[in-house]
Amino acid sequence: MSVTEQLVRLFLVDKQIWGLTSRRRQADQFLGEQVKSLQGLEAQRASIEAQLKLAAAQAAERESEAKRFEARIAQLADQMNSSQSHKQYKAFLSEINGLKGEKSAVESTALEALTRADELRKQLEQLNTQREERSKVKGLASTEAQQRADEIRERLEALKAERAVLVGKVPAAAQAVYERLVAVRGEDAMAKIEEIDSKRHEYSCAACMMSLPVDLVSGLLGHGNLTKCASCGCILYVEEGSLSPVTKGKKPAAAKN
Ligand SMILES: [Zn+2]
Repeated sequence: MSVTEQLVRLFLVDKQIWGLTSRRRQADQFLGEQVKSLQGLEAQRASIEAQLKLAAAQAAERESEAKRFEARIAQLADQMNSSQSHKQYKAFLSEINGLKGEKSAVESTALEALTRADELRKQLEQLNTQREERSKVKGLASTEAQQRADEIRERLEALKAERAVLVGKVPAAAQAVYERLVAVRGEDAMAKIEEIDSKRHEYSCAACMMSLPVDLVSGLLGHGNLTKCASCGCILYVEEGSLSPVTKGKKPAAAKN
């Protein structure tokens, strides 16, 4: 078996492995997205809870401040009612009016804090709903990821064993070239030769569609050595029965390019 034929066998097994694991990767990726989204919601929740705590504390503080003002005003009103002179009366009245103004300012701050706390509670409720929904999706995603992993486990192990046997037969140098191409080009590491016109000896690389010299094609058919496309660099192969028999094993009389 030629090096190219050995590489094609390896490539076909690898393509099956990639196909199997891509479904699992998608499931894993989806699960990862759900986990991340849940973490985001948790962070948002924690932030809103902290803000809510602050707003509630602020409202309580302002309300008790307002009560202190109220008590002081009531005390002053008593004193004012038993004041001895008009001057004293006026002094109490002016102090009371000043305190009433401060009390009202404090009350409106308390109201603002209460309104903010209500708004934050609503946000928290919405976030809780979102978190519940997201948790469900995450649960489903987790089950699916596990199922995908289970589904392919046996088949994947069989393919990996098959791959190990094939790798043992490929010359190390050729394998190194192949693995490098796989790392860079993935499924375009190898490409078949396509016949454009058999009579005119026109062929192209299936990966980049650039035309291939007929010498290269007949050489590959003859010796089967590792042959790369000069344009895209992938390893070329001939798919069984894809080229007209006239080319096979024959050197064409006149190669145009
Ligand atoms: Zn190419």
